[in-house]
Amino acid sequence: MTAGEGRKAAIVIGGGLHGLSTALHLQRTPGWQVTLLERRHVGRHSSGINAGGVRRLGRDLREIALSQVAFEMWSNIEAITGADCGFQASAQVKVAESEDDLRKLEAREAEVRALGWTHEVVVDRAEVRRLLPAIAPHVIGALVTYGDGAADPMKTVMAFRAACEKEGVDIREGVGVTGLGRAESGGIRVETDQGVFEAERVANCAGAWAADLAALIGETIPCDAKASMMIVTERLPPFCEPTVGPTARALSFKQTANGTVVIGGGHQGRNDRHAETSTVLFGNLAHAARIAGELFPCVAGARIIRTWCGTEARTPDQVPVIGESRTLPGLFHSFGFSGHGFQLSPAAGAAVAELMARGTTNLPVAPFHHDRFRAAE
Ligand SMILES: Cc1cc2nc3c(=O)[nH]c(=O)nc-3n(C[C@H](O)[C@H](O)[C@H](O)COP(=O)(O)OP(=O)(O)OC[C@H]3O[C@@H](n4cnc5c(N)ncnc54)[C@H](O)[C@@H]3O)c2cc1C
Repeated sequence: MTAGEGRKAAIVIGGGLHGLSTALHLQRTPGWQVTLLERRHVGRHSSGINAGGVRRLGRDLREIALSQVAFEMWSNIEAITGADCGFQASAQVKVAESEDDLRKLEAREAEVRALGWTHEVVVDRAEVRRLLPAIAPHVIGALVTYGDGAADPMKTVMAFRAACEKEGVDIREGVGVTGLGRAESGGIRVETDQGVFEAERVANCAGAWAADLAALIGETIPCDAKASMMIVTERLPPFCEPTVGPTARALSFKQTANGTVVIGGGHQGRNDRHAETSTVLFGNLAHAARIAGELFPCVAGARIIRTWCGTEARTPDQVPVIGESRTLPGLFHSFGFSGHGFQLSPAAGAAVAELMARGTTNLPVAPFHHDRFRAAE
């Protein structure tokens, strides 16, 4: 199946960052022409509204290698996308609020080092205060990754989109995929609410709706959805450069360049996947705000100016599904990033594009094939 000029046709389903990154890398692979199908608009769900954390700290051990590749790519993001994506490198800091926390952080550092990685470092009280002069007095140490940081999610989506368009990806918004199957030509048939497409390779990057597409071809991949909530405060004088979280409680805390403080970290709202909406639950959000004030007393009285919530795919073991379909070879799944897929998106997209073009990749995605769920059964 060709897409003109002798190039092979590929379709990417989903215009989040994973779809855009996959499309960009595949379009840059000689011999491929990519069409990206997005049901709403590019960046409509998680990818456009997340917290922008670019974090290697505290990853599931299976994710560390891919996260390291992504880290290198973020350090070079302007060369990849043509824009800086608002990426600012500083540090990610997980603070210890007790001796028990500190022991857990030391055990984590040792566990990561035993695998040959040295990017997670335990630091003492003095170094925490150097990094975070405004941190509460009860904090006694931390686990730190230097060089991690944060980017602007919508700038990142727009940068990947612009790069895709520059390379010649055909981006079609308002096109929802409704069916998948084997075409008579031997390729893959992609049915949509705007007509039928065919391609030699297809990527399923449909986020919280991707498991529904897998189910259409009889492939059951366990994945539900979460609804992480965020808070933004009024502008405050600069007091914090790194992104910060505690060890035993859920929180992610950062101050942006304009002075506002962005608070998240997994406190959950309610989502309705079918309506594609999510709702902030203020009781849970108040919990996040209270922890933020306990860690940084200077924000305790800050006014909240905005809150929001977004729908994200979540697998049972909280690591993504990346790999070829067992029921429809030529279809490649990439979803289930479980609340931490923004950082991984440059590297995961490169890996999926290689899998689609060559059937194999040297990038470290082998642990993510959905066969792991069958093995678990
Ligand atoms: C509030 C919040 C904060 C977060 N903070 C961070 C963070 O700090 N750091 C981090 O690393 N990660 C973070 N994440 C997670 C991160 O945003 C996601 O892991 C990542 O954006 C997932 O990208 P995606 O492309 O897989 O999915 P999405 O961005 O959801 O994109 C999927 C796209 O597929 C489209 N689609 C669905 N079904 C169809 C269909 N049938 N046909 C066509 N198109 C379809 C959807 O419309 C959607 O645009 C956060 C998430 C949320 C919600």
